[in-house]
Amino acid sequence: MIVILKQNAPQQKVDELYELIRSKGLDIHTVEGEQDTVLGLIGDTFQLDIERLNQLDIVSAVRRISEPYKLVNRKFHNENSVITVENTAVGDGKFAVIAGPCSVETEEQIIEVAKRVKAAGATMLRGGAFKPRTSPYAFRGLKAEGIELLLEAKKATGLPIVTELTSLSHIDLFNDVDVIQVGARNMQNFDMLLELGKCDKTILLKRGLSSTIQEWLMSAEYIAAGGNNNIILCERGIRTYETATRNTLDISCVPVLKEKTHLPVIVDPSHATGYSSLVRPMSKAAVVAGADGLMIEVHNHPEKALCDGAQSVTPDQFDEIMADVKRLCQSEGR
Ligand code: PEP
Ligand code: MN
Repeated sequence: MIVILKQNAPQQKVDELYELIRSKGLDIHTVEGEQDTVLGLIGDTFQLDIERLNQLDIVSAVRRISEPYKLVNRKFHNENSVITVENTAVGDGKFAVIAGPCSVETEEQIIEVAKRVKAAGATMLRGGAFKPRTSPYAFRGLKAEGIELLLEAKKATGLPIVTELTSLSHIDLFNDVDVIQVGARNMQNFDMLLELGKCDKTILLKRGLSSTIQEWLMSAEYIAAGGNNNIILCERGIRTYETATRNTLDISCVPVLKEKTHLPVIVDPSHATGYSSLVRPMSKAAVVAGADGLMIEVHNHPEKALCDGAQSVTPDQFDEIMADVKRLCQSEGR
C-alpha cells in the first residue's frame, strides 16, 4: 500500500500517522519527491482501514498496489540499481558476463578456464564449490578446497568470484567470496534469504525451478528486507512440459522484470537449455531482450566435466559467444 501525503503536512500529524502505521506492525519506506512525499507500507497492510486513512487531512491519496513486494519494486525506486562488485558492476548499462565451470575440479582447470574467460572479456568468474545434486551419489563439489582454488584463480586473473551457498552452515567459508549465489533449489529457503539479508555481500538469486516471477521477487524482497539491496536476479530456465531442452528459458521474464523491479537481471543459458550448442543463440537472445548480463558455464574439457558437461562450452566456443555479444552490445550502444 502507498500513502501520498499532502504538501506541507504538519510534522506532528505526520509523526502521528507514522505511529499509527507502525503500531500495526508495518514498516515505512519514505520517498521524498520534489512535490510529494510517498510512504511505502511494508508488511501485512490488510489490517489498515483504507477509508480511514484516506480521510485524514494530511493524506492526499491511498492506493493498494497489487504487488506484495515493496523494496524491490520499481514503483518505489525508479532508477536501475547498479550492483558494484570489486572493479566491475552489474546493471550499469554495460554488459556483465560471469563465466566458468559448473564445479571447481582442480587448480589447473579453474586457473586455465579463468584465464581464458578473462581474455575473452568475462567480468567475473563462477565455479561451484558446494554443488546441489539431484543424486546423493554424484560429485558434490570440492567444498572448502573449491573456494580456496577460486581464490587462487582470482589472484591469477583479478576476476571477482561467484559461488553457490547450499547451506547456511557453510557461511563462514564465504568471507572472501565476492558474490554468493543462491541456487534455484534454495530460492525459497527463507531462513537462508533472511540471513543473507543481514550481510553486505552481493547475492545472485537464481529463479526457482518452478517459481513465478512474483515468487522470485518475493524471495528478493526477503533479502532486501534484511537490509541487503545488493541483489542480482538470474533467470536459469523453468520447468515446463517441454523435454527437448533441460528447462525452458523464459526470455520474456527479462522485459517483465525490467518493468517490475529496479534490480539487474542476468540470464543463464547453460542451465536453461542444457546443451552447449544452444548457449550461443540464447546468449544473443538475452542481449536483445535487455538483460544486464549472462552467466555461462565454460569448461576446458567439457567431455570430462564432473558436472553439467553437456551444457558447458569450451573456451574457444566462449570466444565466439563473446564476439557475438560484443557486436550486439555495440550495435545497441552499450
Ligand atoms: C549452477 O549454477 O551450477 C546451478 C546449480 O544452478 P541452478 O541452481 O540454476 O540449477
Ligand atoms: Mn551447473
